[in-house]
Amino acid sequence: RWVQMVVLDKTGTVTTGSMRLVAVTTAPGVGEDEALRRAGAVEDSSEHPIGLAIAREAAARLGGLHPATGFESRPGSGVRGIVDDRAVIVGSLDFFDRRSLPVLPALRRAVTAAETEGQTAVLAGWDDGAVQGGAGQSGAGQERAQAVLVLADTLRPGAAEAVARIQRMGIRVALLTGDSERAARAVAAQLRIAPEYVLARVRPEEKANVIRGLQGDGLQVAMVGDGVNDAAALAQADLGMATGTGTDAAIGAADLTLVSSDPHAIADALVLARVTLSVIRANLAWAFGYNVIAIPMAALGFLNPLIAGLAMSVSSLVVSGNSLQIRRFRPKRPVVPE
Ligand code: ADP
Ligand code: MG
Repeated sequence: RWVQMVVLDKTGTVTTGSMRLVAVTTAPGVGEDEALRRAGAVEDSSEHPIGLAIAREAAARLGGLHPATGFESRPGSGVRGIVDDRAVIVGSLDFFDRRSLPVLPALRRAVTAAETEGQTAVLAGWDDGAVQGGAGQSGAGQERAQAVLVLADTLRPGAAEAVARIQRMGIRVALLTGDSERAARAVAAQLRIAPEYVLARVRPEEKANVIRGLQGDGLQVAMVGDGVNDAAALAQADLGMATGTGTDAAIGAADLTLVSSDPHAIADALVLARVTLSVIRANLAWAFGYNVIAIPMAALGFLNPLIAGLAMSVSSLVVSGNSLQIRRFRPKRPVVPE
């Protein structure tokens, strides 16, 4: 049986994974620079593309950052740290909601608007010591959302064409991401991946389970990813492919590593694997056929040993010649070293 579904990781695999900070929306009374200073200080210790983009932009705008202390990372959710004696938290709206941290409706709307565009929005929150509305409740001691930071990623050139090539091979294509449903659907639409094949808000530790679930539905699944958070899923898939710019963990867990991170390499690898498999099957048929027919005939004396010897050589030549057709394979785009 052959691969029936290819699951593509979104960030870093179909997109470049190098994000840019494109907008900041703040709560009333909070300055953009203040939000960037706090968020940037915490993200300065993060290796996530979101963190790198926020820290880079904050350092550029403010001319340097005072690093946070007590940095903690929650993969798939966000980060936290202490800046100027205040706990600062940067992460997804989900992360804030799970911890019941207050988020103003205007900030919520800013997140939704950005995600509808296919962008990634994270919240930055801290305890501003202000008294929250309601029955004399004090907000002190609790972080709350103070700003929305919007990040844009770029689709890799050729991603849409590569998806179309894979679909034309009769293979279903799915998109897997820890990002929001809305952002994932917007990206999927550009790639012509059907909404039912969008697997969003999947925590890093759940990615392998998602693959197992698809296999449980009887599908042979290939997975393509680049990140540490993809490693378990790459190992679980029937065929795990790490992209050329992938992390060591992804490359270690994958069955094969693509030399390039050009999405066409994914389709090329599938075509090459399919050709190779059909050659192996044909060769087996030739070699077995020869033995199954010729050996009993020779044993029963129906075959002249000279003819049998000749047939054996012909069988070997057919197998070698058949294998040479793999050399005719040419990738869609020549590999450009990165
Ligand atoms: P992906 O599968 O797209 O690579 P992740 O699982 O790494 O996504 O992250 C999922 C979500 O968790 C992100 O979209 C973001 O909302 C949040 N997140 C992860 N890391 C960070 C970070 N360093 N700073 C802020 N938010 C983060
Ligand atoms: Mg990734």
